[in-house]
Amino acid sequence: MRKNRIDILGTKFDNFTEKQFHKYLIDDLDVKNNRFIVTPNPEIVLSARENPKFSNIVNDADYVIPDGIGIIKGANSLGTPMHGRITGFDTLMFLIKTANKRGSKVYLLGSKPEVIEASAKRIKTEFKNVDLVGYHDGYFKDDQNIVVDIVDKKPDIVLVALGSPKQEYFINKYKELNPAIWIGVGGSFDVFSGTKKRAPKFIQKIGMEWFYRLAKEPSRIGRMMAIPKYMHLIKKERKNK
Ligand code: UDP
Repeated sequence: MRKNRIDILGTKFDNFTEKQFHKYLIDDLDVKNNRFIVTPNPEIVLSARENPKFSNIVNDADYVIPDGIGIIKGANSLGTPMHGRITGFDTLMFLIKTANKRGSKVYLLGSKPEVIEASAKRIKTEFKNVDLVGYHDGYFKDDQNIVVDIVDKKPDIVLVALGSPKQEYFINKYKELNPAIWIGVGGSFDVFSGTKKRAPKFIQKIGMEWFYRLAKEPSRIGRMMAIPKYMHLIKKERKNK
């Protein structure tokens, strides 16, 4: 781990295949390693670039995986190609399926109350062997009760959907209190619960998932403006190489 990292505008990504990554996670669960997974897309790379504190949190994480197609394109453009995209959502599905096989303890934190309820319900009906030790929506005022609950329930896996950078700050602050696989999963519970649909597979394959999300949620346009800025910075960086 931490070897073979690829630097994209200051964020250092792990360059492994999804299969290798899954193997590392199984090994981590076997020995109960405390692990923090971050899944940056171009927007997160830019906010890390503008915020050294956030950048340190991201780069100090145990796994930094390329969530967006923009990261893969950026890596190609800089002459340091990566194996491929590994999304937060697919990682969440892998962790839930693995927990279901092993009977691992899982804690869900984040998203709207109805979304977290629906996510918990899906786990209880579809992944019956998961030991769902607790869940809470992401609209709480005080961290304390939540953290006490997590420490008390001792989950093996903590899935945190508070949006970025809130979820990364939260995990970074509290992860030492409970050894587990901690991951910030952004809007994944919205999809997992069936509240929002992910793009069809062929759209994912051609690298247009971002466009699908924009078409479904035009209010994301402000956030999407990060992409041209990111591509411009990649071009500049390539020239300076
Ligand atoms: N969210 C939350 N608490 C907050 C702010 C956001 O639980 O204070 C949730 C929100 O309901 C959504 C997720 O965090 O489920 C963020 O989703 P977004 O689409 O912004 O994430 P992305 O996948 O784009 O990173």
